[in-house]
Amino acid sequence: MEWWPCKQVLSDKIDSTYMFLTCDNDCLVGSNGILKNIIDLPDNKRRFEWKTRYPMNYYLLSFAVAEYQDYSIYAKPEGADSVLIQNFVYNNSSYLSDNKTDLDETIDLVELFSEKFGLYPFANEKYGHCLTTLGGGMEHQTMSTMGNFSFGLVAHELGHMWFGDYVTCATWQDIWINEGFASYTEYVALENLKSYYEAQNWMLVAHDYALNQTNGSVYIPFEEAFNENRIFNYDLSYKKGAALLHMIRSEINNDDLFFASIRNYLSEYADSVATGEDFKNSLEKYTSIEFDPFFDQWYYGKGYPRFDINYTQYNDTLRMTVTETGSSSETPLFQIHVEYKLIYDGGDTTVRLYQSNNIEVFKIPVNQEITNIIVDPNNWILDDQGSIQSFGNDESLFGFKPNPAVENIDLNFNLNLFNKQKQVRIFDLSGRLIKTYEFTESNYTIDISSLSKGIYLLKGISENKTYTYKLIKQ
Ligand SMILES: [Zn+2]
Repeated sequence: MEWWPCKQVLSDKIDSTYMFLTCDNDCLVGSNGILKNIIDLPDNKRRFEWKTRYPMNYYLLSFAVAEYQDYSIYAKPEGADSVLIQNFVYNNSSYLSDNKTDLDETIDLVELFSEKFGLYPFANEKYGHCLTTLGGGMEHQTMSTMGNFSFGLVAHELGHMWFGDYVTCATWQDIWINEGFASYTEYVALENLKSYYEAQNWMLVAHDYALNQTNGSVYIPFEEAFNENRIFNYDLSYKKGAALLHMIRSEINNDDLFFASIRNYLSEYADSVATGEDFKNSLEKYTSIEFDPFFDQWYYGKGYPRFDINYTQYNDTLRMTVTETGSSSETPLFQIHVEYKLIYDGGDTTVRLYQSNNIEVFKIPVNQEITNIIVDPNNWILDDQGSIQSFGNDESLFGFKPNPAVENIDLNFNLNLFNKQKQVRIFDLSGRLIKTYEFTESNYTIDISSLSKGIYLLKGISENKTYTYKLIKQ
């Protein structure tokens, strides 16, 4: 509305646009769609006639005027003869030669994204860039406005053609549909066209940004729906948004299915708008995987988890207690599959386990002595660094009976801990601490009659050793 009379409603896309612009004849004008005609006019003027027939959102119209040269190249994605990539860059001899390699990478990107996300959505017209003095870029439909041609920026703005332009966020509260997805296309571009190492590095940096926001959600809460700074929050809408897609990919655990479900979502909402909820429903239907808890915790929920590990090993069983804590009290639990790399002398093995409660006790068969554990070794998950502690064979730390119990339980601590300080903590399955007992005796009775019926975790601690049992209260 600042420069163009329009109906500023996301869900009502313009069905076609003509943009006719007159300027001095040493300039070129770049805009949306196809340059149908250049008409010579008196007084050294020319009229550029641009037309587009694709539906477009009001905020994606643009034009740019400068002493440009037209550097046109072609991509050949599967499913189309060729796609024109029309670059309007400054008309001096060094600019093009300095940036040609970067500009030419647009070809690989159009072909890659067409393979992963479906054919470039505006293939009958073109993709293009207009260079300006902007810092960064803007994903104007079929003609992105660019401040430079760095690989990540070119990928991001091109990614928007699928995520933002072709399918647009239905409300600004769902900006994830635009910025989270476009940011993730940067990762996909690095992974496929550069190296796994560069992609991994990108995700580590993205996580660093997202970890700044201990109490923030990707979804824009109602009270901030009109706060532009919050909507375009880099840590949350861009970086945590991209991290969410990476975790969805990990939950699906099948790359072909992940990309097919993205293509299915795009065709379902083609030339239209979608909310995060629409994406979730489309994903669930296509993959037959339930994503309600994931979206409640990761999309609408706040912050991120931290995983603390205690492990002990006896014979061929590794007993690993994983305690999950949320950075925000509003979202205490994130349920997710987590990989653990178990390291032994001369090698390692990776297991993938589901964290459904704040405290999980896993028993893993092993045939080597495990010397260390790495949580999430491939960096799939947005999580804070937790502690890893080994307690040797501490099943001998203490025992108790009866189990199940109604009123009292009798604790027996190892006699080697005679007169040492001891602590027993009772947690519910959400990880909430219910009671703490402190004593030095080896035999100690606690009264649990006030606990309601259910399953609890009983954690004994002494001399830096811990052991956790499941306690059933009847
Ligand atoms: Zn963007």
